Amino acid sequence: MTRIGIDLGGTKIEAIALEGSREVFRKRIAAPRGSYEATISAVASLVGEIGEGSLGIGIPGALSRVTGLVKNANSSWLIGKPLKADLENALQREVRLENDANCFALSEAVDGAGKGAEVVFGVILGTGVGGGIVVRGKVLTGPNAIAGEWGHNPLPAPTPDDLPLPACYCGRRGCVETYLSGPGLARDHSQLTGQTLAAEEIVALQGESLWRYEERLARALASVINVLDPDVIVLGGGMSNAARLYTEVPRLWQRYVFSDHVATRLARNAHGDSSGVRGAAWLWPNGT
Ligand SMILES: [Zn+2]
Repeated sequence: MTRIGIDLGGTKIEAIALEGSREVFRKRIAAPRGSYEATISAVASLVGEIGEGSLGIGIPGALSRVTGLVKNANSSWLIGKPLKADLENALQREVRLENDANCFALSEAVDGAGKGAEVVFGVILGTGVGGGIVVRGKVLTGPNAIAGEWGHNPLPAPTPDDLPLPACYCGRRGCVETYLSGPGLARDHSQLTGQTLAAEEIVALQGESLWRYEERLARALASVINVLDPDVIVLGGGMSNAARLYTEVPRLWQRYVFSDHVATRLARNAHGDSSGVRGAAWLWPNGT
């Protein structure tokens, strides 16, 4: 069967079609920013180009289980809209819709860095910080549709270096995202050195700021390990390109995890930017 996946991002919409795990179609278009109706039409036209097939869509937010409307989306024109119902109407087929970090985790669990693992925690370290949980090949959504959303937990065990707690757009202070997003690293580096650099330039310096980042990531992930005890944590987003994370963070998290030995692996994603759209397609697994 053909599986269609759509990644409905804030700046681009990407579509793929899979036959088995082989990609037979891929197209990327600019997102019609600001217009909900144009977003629906753009998705309908992409799906129309592919034709028949199951349809899964990843969005930068979640569907409220209470109202069926989009919430927590940084593409603000989607918020409060009945996106699933409107797409099903426009496309005359059932649509499965999931948070994009959940789609990332699913893609990596199915045939990526988490393949064969029972519990996968997928982490996005990009402009924002998100996460998704896949258990035995299935996305865990949760009654609030926020399973895996660790980015707006407070950074654990703050030290004087972490103060003052940075304000977060969500209204809280000291959220994990304010330290571990790309802009969070840039802010911390500027506070430490007075220098304004982009996250990848700071990574290239291999200096004190990157060490602070690794230590904070270790603390934040240790809390996840203590609750979820995943087999593997897969990193995605721009910061996942920092190669040193994969050696340093597992060394640093030992002291925060409540176990004599930590068997959890920290892995780089296998599908890069394509994980979101692949995971959307895999919302319809084999046998459904
Ligand atoms: Zn926050």
